[in-house]
Amino acid sequence: MAKKVLKFGGTSVGTIERILHVAKIIKKEYDAGHKVIAVVSAMSGKTNELLDQSKIISKNFNKRELDVLLTSGEQVTSALLAGALNEFGVNSRSWLNWQIPILTDGEHSNARIINMNISRIDDFLSEKGVAIIPGFQGISKEGNVTTIGRGGSDATAVAVAKIFNADSCEIYTDVDGVFSTDPNKIPMAKKIDKISYDEMLELSSLGAKVMQSSAVQTAMMYNIPLQVRSTFTDRQGTKIFNQESIDYSKSVTGVAYSKNDAKVTIAGVKDKPGVAASIFKPLSLNQINVDMVVQNISLNGKETDMTFTIKSEDLKKTQKIIRSNRKISFRKLTYDKNVSKVSIIGVGMVTTPGITYRMFQALATKKINIMVISTSEIKISVLISNKQIKKAVAALHKEFKLD
Ligand code: ADP
Ligand code: ASP
Ligand code: MG
Repeated sequence: MAKKVLKFGGTSVGTIERILHVAKIIKKEYDAGHKVIAVVSAMSGKTNELLDQSKIISKNFNKRELDVLLTSGEQVTSALLAGALNEFGVNSRSWLNWQIPILTDGEHSNARIINMNISRIDDFLSEKGVAIIPGFQGISKEGNVTTIGRGGSDATAVAVAKIFNADSCEIYTDVDGVFSTDPNKIPMAKKIDKISYDEMLELSSLGAKVMQSSAVQTAMMYNIPLQVRSTFTDRQGTKIFNQESIDYSKSVTGVAYSKNDAKVTIAGVKDKPGVAASIFKPLSLNQINVDMVVQNISLNGKETDMTFTIKSEDLKKTQKIIRSNRKISFRKLTYDKNVSKVSIIGVGMVTTPGITYRMFQALATKKINIMVISTSEIKISVLISNKQIKKAVAALHKEFKLD
């Protein structure tokens, strides 16, 4: 008898018909003799709808109340799913974050699961029944309801799998698995059968929404194998696990791209020690994440230009902070909101020379201009115009034979 954690994302529980379909998937596992804990998201679109409603009331909606509001989405699906299972003759119960409790640390809307008390649910599983846990939420030490970041039900599923020492953690979603890039946007994307934690972590952090990056990070830390699969087909999904067991014949495994990036250039800043720190310190104090950074070689030894990227939602705040920064002087501040970061990812890169050249050449052939470059051991990222994303992803698929 295996202990299984099954997570169902928003589209998988997006309608009552789909909730009934999910209940049938769970019943099948339960009837096969497994102990099942299901983690559920809110119905697709619900979290955004609630967020929009809060924004009508205030652009600065109270953070504590926002978390209370957003967790309601997952509460609804948990109860509907438990009800559906009971209707199908399977004993089932849902628990809310504070009833378990799922303890979190950190700030509202971006908290982190630190512990869970499993005794009651464990007793219930032993008495024979399916447990339903709402994803995306927890409770702080102070007793406040918290949420753990967008896409956070993935992280809940991994945490539950860890604490219950589950035999498997299956992420049911609306695509057949992890693809070489977003299959809904780029039809030439190919499904990946197996992928290492490291590669999946890079793919997720660089824009592949299919798995939340902090969930992958936790799975990697505790060596919890994951499986991403479809709620709507029986096709084999993608296994995410330790890289020792993976074949390195491919130098590139996937292509990710981000949306909502912005590029900021501060022209004519002093070329002397401490200037970069003076630019970035107030940004970091204001929780603005700086991603790619380039500083031009100074031509006259006195002045230089500094370019960096941020999320476009932080652009206004960034401009304000830079303009009011008395520790720096500069000639001009410019920005570009129409940029996107395209990245190739693959552990095979470590042992294959010439990948950087091939990437740049493939983009050049398609007349795609590279504005900023950043690399790590298993990824190369370039900043390009966002109008050229599809062309770039297709060119990279051809070059690295991913199609
Ligand atoms: P869920 O609601 O199940 O959590 P998400 O919408 O968060 O689902 O993630 C699934 C979506 O991720 C897919 O519908 C797909 O459009 C998108 N996606 C982006 N990159 C990839 C990729 N490399 N492989 C698979 N899906 C991807
Ligand atoms: N409902 C939350 C969101 O839309 C969490 C999740 O679906 O994973 O971000
Ligand atoms: Mg998701």
